[in-house]
Amino acid sequence: MHEGSIARNIIDYVQKVAEENHINTVKKIVVKLGKLHAVVPDALLFFFDIMKKEEKIVEDAVLHLEEEEIVVRCKKCRNEFSVDDRYFVCPACGSPDTEIIKGGDILIVSVEGE
Ligand SMILES: [Zn+2]
Repeated sequence: MHEGSIARNIIDYVQKVAEENHINTVKKIVVKLGKLHAVVPDALLFFFDIMKKEEKIVEDAVLHLEEEEIVVRCKKCRNEFSVDDRYFVCPACGSPDTEIIKGGDILIVSVEGE
């Protein structure tokens, strides 16, 4: 139910943003999906399409997902590299002491409507 709760959070947040910006009908929502969260896009879209029918303000909204690669930086040599899994070891110096600089967030990029 990981994707189900994310869909719920997106809808709740978008409702708040729409009300604050006097949007009555949300048409498009763009969400950046950091791959660190291992969200399955199809599953998220599936839950979103079910849940949006219960909320008039988002019932016509289309959800666009932009997947973001995971990019980490080595704290030792400052090398930046992208990874496919959660095993973050610097390919330049072999240090496991790294920090995530991209791909760690789920962000609502924009909400469009009228
Ligand atoms: Zn390094």
